[in-house]
Amino acid sequence: MVAMYHSLCEAEVFVAGGGPAGLSAAIAARQAGFAVTLADVAHPPIDKTCGEGIMPDGLAAIAKLGITLPADQAFPFRGIRFSDAGSAVAASFPRGYGLGIRRTRLHQILVDRASELGVVMHWGARVTGITSDGVSVNGRNIRCRWLVGADGQNSRIRHWAGLESSRPGSRRFGYRCHYRVAPWSEFVEVYWTDHGQLVVTPVSNEEVCVALITHEPYTRLDNVFAGFPTITKLLRGAELITREQGAISRMHALPAVYKGSRVLVGEASGSVDAITGDGLFMALQHARALVHALQDNDLATYQAAHRKIARIPRMMAELMLLMDKSPWLRRRALRALSVEPSLFARMLAIHTGALPPLAFGVHGTLTLGWHLITA
Ligand SMILES: Cc1cc2nc3c(=O)[nH]c(=O)nc-3n(C[C@H](O)[C@H](O)[C@H](O)COP(=O)(O)OP(=O)(O)OC[C@H]3O[C@@H](n4cnc5c(N)ncnc54)[C@H](O)[C@@H]3O)c2cc1C
Repeated sequence: MVAMYHSLCEAEVFVAGGGPAGLSAAIAARQAGFAVTLADVAHPPIDKTCGEGIMPDGLAAIAKLGITLPADQAFPFRGIRFSDAGSAVAASFPRGYGLGIRRTRLHQILVDRASELGVVMHWGARVTGITSDGVSVNGRNIRCRWLVGADGQNSRIRHWAGLESSRPGSRRFGYRCHYRVAPWSEFVEVYWTDHGQLVVTPVSNEEVCVALITHEPYTRLDNVFAGFPTITKLLRGAELITREQGAISRMHALPAVYKGSRVLVGEASGSVDAITGDGLFMALQHARALVHALQDNDLATYQAAHRKIARIPRMMAELMLLMDKSPWLRRRALRALSVEPSLFARMLAIHTGALPPLAFGVHGTLTLGWHLITA
């Protein structure tokens, strides 16, 4: 039975942070009938460094929030293409398509949906602490039954709730900018270099997002373009429409994602390397799993679901980080996959949840092993 919460200083569910994870959790909780208040220190539409690709299963999760992303403000992609200086391989998603969309557009759409459902939102409002029965926002206490920490990678809620992990995990550096140019591919293109990966995502009929994910702190997009005459040629004459913006891409996991009535979603609850393109999908899955747990008044079920959500993205991230660390392995793996593209298609199907990890099978492993040696 959902309690009635009338006062401005009370919320049944309070969400700290209004990025994609916080807004998705707020929307899903409102859909389930909870009274929800959200606060974010920034103002919408909030931008953030991102590759801006949503995988097909992420789109299905967005649809469950009652949102259809407008086709004229996004760009569908049908799969992923990997290449380096010597080899290239592409595969289509086995089901559906992914969508490239500017982060600011996605944010505004989520804000509009939350507003339509009656989520009480405070923008420009910093969460400054937690109290025994709620949270402080700009120094003012708000009581709540559940506190959802969706305040991103450097979550204060995680820290205050005592959910921090002693393991730092690994980190890389991400940069992105946008060019006004008609997309030249139906794929998200990932160019592998010794410096990191350059990811090109079409985000509308006339814009592409170019992101770099690198382990080198001083490498920027321009340094990497120099090694890619193909991209330089494709972008020649295209107007640069956003400034290069950076963020940390972290890979870390927490031993627990809740304590008492405080619970974490999105990057506050751990993350996988950005190269997977799974961050938004995971945040959306967290929202759905969290609301089921709130309905059952049992956050332990959320903890279990959270682990399951991270399993495949983590496995894929580890595989790709291995390729990032070893140029020798990367060159051989890309050559092997380009000789046997069906293996890449199977990996993509596993990545998007269309096939279970075991589907790679003994045959796939042996074939890949053989091509790694001989290709
Ligand atoms: C280079 C790069 C490329 C990426 N590419 C992709 C991709 O292609 N596809 C994909 O799915 N994912 C991608 N990701 C991951 C994706 O961007 C994240 O998973 C996603 O942003 C996580 O959303 P979030 O809501 O958890 O965190 P955030 O988006 O960081 O939101 C947290 C919010 O909390 C607010 N906040 C923080 N502290 C406080 C406070 N004290 N009080 C109030 N508000 C507060 C912030 O203002 C912010 O709005 C990429 C990441 C990087 C770094």
